[in-house]
Amino acid sequence: MTQNGLILALDQGTTSSRAILFDRNGAALANAQQELPQIFPAPGLVEHDAEQIWRDTLATARAVLDKGGVGAGEIAGIGIANQRETTVIWRRDTGLPIHNAIVWQDRRTADLCNGLRRSGHDALIQSRTGLIVDPYFSATKIAWLLDNVEGARAWAEAGELAFGTIDSWLLWKLTGGAVHATDATNASRTMLFDIHRQRWDEELCQLFNVPPALLPEVRDCAADFGQTEKALFGAPIAIAGIAGDQQAATVGQACFTPGMIKSTYGTGCFVMLNTGVDAVASRNRMLTTVAYRLAGQTTYALEGSIFVAGAAMQWLRDGLKLIDAAPDSEALARGLESTDGVVMVPAFTGLGAPYWDADARGAIVGLTRDSSIAQIVRAGLEAVCYQTRDLLLAMQADAAAAALPTGNLVLDVLRVDGGMVENDWLMQFLADILDLGVDRPAVTETTALGAAYLAGLQTGVYPSIETIASHWRRQASFTPGMTAARRQQLYGAWQEAVARVRTVT
Ligand code: ADP
Repeated sequence: MTQNGLILALDQGTTSSRAILFDRNGAALANAQQELPQIFPAPGLVEHDAEQIWRDTLATARAVLDKGGVGAGEIAGIGIANQRETTVIWRRDTGLPIHNAIVWQDRRTADLCNGLRRSGHDALIQSRTGLIVDPYFSATKIAWLLDNVEGARAWAEAGELAFGTIDSWLLWKLTGGAVHATDATNASRTMLFDIHRQRWDEELCQLFNVPPALLPEVRDCAADFGQTEKALFGAPIAIAGIAGDQQAATVGQACFTPGMIKSTYGTGCFVMLNTGVDAVASRNRMLTTVAYRLAGQTTYALEGSIFVAGAAMQWLRDGLKLIDAAPDSEALARGLESTDGVVMVPAFTGLGAPYWDADARGAIVGLTRDSSIAQIVRAGLEAVCYQTRDLLLAMQADAAAAALPTGNLVLDVLRVDGGMVENDWLMQFLADILDLGVDRPAVTETTALGAAYLAGLQTGVYPSIETIASHWRRQASFTPGMTAARRQQLYGAWQEAVARVRTVT
């Protein structure tokens, strides 16, 4: 371990690649970022150039070392957090991808998924992987690549190809092709991984027609993932931590005990509830997933996702031009007593958990002759809160039905992060609608921070997760202040509005 305990976090997200240099107290010393171009070959299809992801990652990592004025030899380790599920297949001999990466949002395998559901495979898939059959996850994307890139299936069977989510791809490139591995959180999003036995599932590999020779080795989140090739940074750096972005944020928020819950409010919103050593099977269409795996011990989570959170503010700004900037929404919302019955359901790309209604579309209901811009903007913010309540109610019902040996989960407080949480009005309304305290941490870069914490655990910068938990600092706290009657009235109006846009029940 180097003396100063510096960690380099690489946060490869859907829309950008970032590198942040953290000190041992979790303070960000320098950062660098590059936007990632999105490739849309046809409606519903989303790809990334995997080579560009690698180039940008390397460039931002080098930039951050430069800015921080530190050499590779001073870095204790690298932690990687990444956009999840996005699928890359490359040749082992040349390291060249056989196709663009297929991004998690891509819907090209919807028919394949419908077929799997029709033939009744969804129960087996859910029980092994904790996932709902959907194009979102990697397995059908792998199958698509093998079936649509000429020669790919034969190469795969001959062991000439490697599959990886973005973490594995970056790891392969960072180690000069020496390491083909992933961590348990990323593996848990492929739909090929048995989250209970913690290994690739042969039956699922057969079902999806994926040769096991393609798959990376699965390691803990804090583990020895090898070293960077010397030429990249002048000296080798240990790669010591990996987690998918939402799981990394869970670690960054130090949600280490059952019942602890975090919600990230960016473009979309992702809620993760720590359920401890128990994998809770959802009856309410949440996902069961690996929160993190440390020293061979798996901690599970229930996860719910909302597709549109901050994206509704972007639409109000760029589409309708009702506001100049997303933060303007705060003063507009605060200036009103209520929306006077105006409710927005931002189902622009369908509804996510717990509805999973891909064909639903957005609506603004309750408009009258004197409805105002402020009411519509406020309705956009309120929708984020009502959807969070939808998720929390579903998760609590799942946890209660599971009758956990560790006892019922008591939600104490919601830890929040992401760009939207700067909006104080929104955070207060969230606490009011959830009837739950909301805590905003001092560091809201929780994804990169979580990756840094994992690498720090492995390299001895942090002796234990308790040390990490002791670093967490609250910056602001919001306490519920709404009457139960008012909450019920508002949430009831939301439920009615949702019922009007749903295409399946
Ligand atoms: P991502 O990582 O998904 O790109 P961020 O965490 O950077 O997103 O958050 C940016 C999102 O938050 C944008 O969609 C933006 O509209 C929204 N946002 C940023 N600031 C505010 C604010 N003060 N009030 C409401 N929404 C905001």
